[in-house]
Amino acid sequence: MDVGRLRSAIAGDRLEVHFQPVVDLSDGSTVGVEALARWYDDELGQVPPDRFVVLAEETGLIVDLGRWVLRTACAQVARWTLGRSEPFLLSVNVSPVELREESFFDDVVRALHDTGLAPHRLCLEVTETAIVSNVTEVASTLWRLRELGVQLALDDFGTGHSSLTLLRNLPLDIVKIDRSLIRQVAVGAQDAVLVQLVVDAAHTLGLRVCAEGVEEETQARQVVAMGCDTGQGFLFGRPSARPRLDDSAPDPGSGWLTPASSGLVPLSGNDDLVLVADRERTVTYASASCRRLLGRMPSELVGGSLTDLLGADLEDGPVTVRMLHKDDGHRWVRGIVHPLLDTAGQVREVLCVLTDVTTAVSRERELADSEELFRSAFTGAPIGIALSDFDGRLLRVNPALAELVGRSVSELLELTVADITHTDDLGPDAHNLSEVRAGAAEQHRVVKRYLRPDGTPVPVEVHAARVRTADGEPYCIVAHVLPASDRR
Ligand code: C2E
Ligand code: MG
Ligand code: MG
Repeated sequence: MDVGRLRSAIAGDRLEVHFQPVVDLSDGSTVGVEALARWYDDELGQVPPDRFVVLAEETGLIVDLGRWVLRTACAQVARWTLGRSEPFLLSVNVSPVELREESFFDDVVRALHDTGLAPHRLCLEVTETAIVSNVTEVASTLWRLRELGVQLALDDFGTGHSSLTLLRNLPLDIVKIDRSLIRQVAVGAQDAVLVQLVVDAAHTLGLRVCAEGVEEETQARQVVAMGCDTGQGFLFGRPSARPRLDDSAPDPGSGWLTPASSGLVPLSGNDDLVLVADRERTVTYASASCRRLLGRMPSELVGGSLTDLLGADLEDGPVTVRMLHKDDGHRWVRGIVHPLLDTAGQVREVLCVLTDVTTAVSRERELADSEELFRSAFTGAPIGIALSDFDGRLLRVNPALAELVGRSVSELLELTVADITHTDDLGPDAHNLSEVRAGAAEQHRVVKRYLRPDGTPVPVEVHAARVRTADGEPYCIVAHVLPASDRR
């Protein structure tokens, strides 16, 4: 490529600025544009910025190029936003070389002044490399720009050092997550986890997050679910000299706007343990929460077997498993195992999101244990016990009662108390029952006779009482039955 041709293109105004829309992911409206330089050369044709920007940086031409792009873009956006009060942000890329240039700050001030664009409508995009290569010098320029009211974005996050510390110490407003990460976000658990971490960290630091290079609806849904604030990409609009900005209402076809519960890589709260494993079930990632949940460092889990860790080879879907805590017994975790498939339908990776449910499971187990205790006390009791409703229908009886009246438990459950009572005792029994039913008596104690199927009378002493539900409603009658002879 010829430096002379580029120089004369810049000098002769033969470059162009294209604008790519940036949309608000909460409603799909266009909230800004990114200015992207375009160079069409008669001989070379359309030269991609990746090539001519590098050449311009190497030759120092980038300073003139950047100044030209900044002024042209500011002038254009000042026209678009004239008389408008709604937020609209123009993003302009700044090369590390420009940022180091002493005149850079003054160039920005002049561009804003000459074009009439308000400083808060301008966002300068810088890359991590630009910052890292010369932190002290660059930081002071960034702080001065911030004081001016200009916003600052960290571009292509995820391609360089991806240092979150960097974000903390600089006056940044926006983090733009590089499209190489966004490309995989709906299908690759590792990338999804990484992006989620960046989003959470950026939000904690008070920054907005822009997802770059969103091309598909699934990616849009995923970045929406992860909490990204804005999005940019071919799905929302390609860079163009005259982007459509007036129709801020979302395209009716933007299905990504409606929250979807299925088809997403499921990631959730910070307390959850997120594990990613490869197709052989070898753990390739563990979130920091494993320190709290299992008393182990993420690096202790990576390289191990997911199957061993969970104590089972899990299928897709919700599961509850017991995991060992390094120095404190075990933890119950409930979670999902989500296989991520490649285009051929083969499992590529497995994502596992686990929530600590130890307290809930312990409580359930205690309840189950006490139910079990109650059941064995009921069935094993040496005296007869019967539960009946207020019409005398038998609801539950224990083996001791069945034996006493010479019938099986299941047989009794088809009968009423009257069916096993001696005919002479039916009258008084009915009277007692109606008293209990009416609430006139909570309990009664009688000596009566049951009748075995062969007609043998069985004298018994019955102690019956009302059973109430937890909220105090009469529920049934419990009767304790002893052979009357035992009492004498
Ligand atoms: P960038 O700042 O990250 O800009 C986004 C790039 O991603 C643009 O490429 C844009 O066309 C492309 N893009 C946006 N959405 C999608 C998508 O959905 N899919 C795909 N595959 N690509 C998408 P472009 O215009 O080729 O620019 C490449 C890079 O060149 C820019 O990356 C930026 O770093 C640099 N650049 C462009 N214009 C300027 C400029 O005026 N000054 C400086 N210093 N750098 C510039
Ligand atoms: Mg950019
Ligand atoms: Mg970028």
